[in-house]
Amino acid sequence: MIEHLVRKNILALKPYSCARDEFKGRPAHVFLDANESAHNAPYNRYPDPLQEQLKERISAIKGVSAQSIFLGNGSDEAIDLVYRIFCEPGVDNVVAIEPTYGMYGVCADINNVEYRTVPLSAVDYAMSADALLQACDEHTKVIWICTPNNPTGNDMDRRELQRVLTEFNGIVVVDEAYGDFSDMQPVRNYLQHFPRMIVLNTFSKAWASASIRLGMAFASPEIIDFFNKVKYPYNVNLLTQQAATELLKNMDRLERWTNEVKHERAHMMPCLAELSMVKQVYPSAANFLLVKVTDADAIYKYLIERGIVVRNRNRVALCQGGLRITIGTKDENNELLAALRRYGHAF
Ligand code: PMP
Repeated sequence: MIEHLVRKNILALKPYSCARDEFKGRPAHVFLDANESAHNAPYNRYPDPLQEQLKERISAIKGVSAQSIFLGNGSDEAIDLVYRIFCEPGVDNVVAIEPTYGMYGVCADINNVEYRTVPLSAVDYAMSADALLQACDEHTKVIWICTPNNPTGNDMDRRELQRVLTEFNGIVVVDEAYGDFSDMQPVRNYLQHFPRMIVLNTFSKAWASASIRLGMAFASPEIIDFFNKVKYPYNVNLLTQQAATELLKNMDRLERWTNEVKHERAHMMPCLAELSMVKQVYPSAANFLLVKVTDADAIYKYLIERGIVVRNRNRVALCQGGLRITIGTKDENNELLAALRRYGHAF
């Protein structure tokens, strides 16, 4: 059903077959098939190319069947694969909200795919399904929607999103990297309704494991098959699979961390809003706040000099004067507030 959207060379691709794929299912104890070393177990062996055990655990937690899950080296891997599977370089284009996460555009450039942007509302960063659909033509293969959006922090309106999902005939990627911090229903719950939707999740945000580089894509088994065909054979290493498996044994901890972020976010909003240099604090459903200030470059530099790093978004479309501030621990947040309160004072 999605074959007409896939690049012809990918449709015709005969994927690499791993040594271990060829004997699968039969018991064995002498492995002389993959030119591995006989020493240094367990690291001498190639990891499971399809991460089946880990997918079973994720499936139970996310309520998505294992056949509908792709795991990659961060969700950045899934973003790049979307281009490589669906977009013919120099011919096809994609459409994205603006501003949004920078890698959609960078991967478009790397893959030589035209990247069309549709500005969000300058008032509240709302998206317009009409505007997105109007930006499409017969060569538009993908629409990128990030919700909650980075760097604006807001949820995209669900009716607008639904319109894009029903009216656009290509692939719609909904990036829910920050979805755990939002009160909205996760979009992955609607996978069955939208066979051309790909939902991105990550271990890097609420699951507090950015260093292990593990991202998830949820989509129809048909789409996931193409991801599996095109990805590097052993794209998720053993250490990452082990670390993720350990993490998922303690879901209470994840919930506690997320609640702490939400609590601190609610606390930080009014504290920031009352500072003299703050012009606006935007509502956020993510683990960061977009804050417009009187002089973003100067305040950014001032904070750096005090060892506090925030993200300067001053030169990003519709974010002029904006700093993106991640919610940290209570102590870190208080240190930031104390430094900002001293801004402009000699001591
Ligand atoms: N999507 C969004 C919206 C992000 O902000 C980020 C990282 N900041 C990513 C995806 C990439 O996450 P990962 O660490 O899984 O590659």
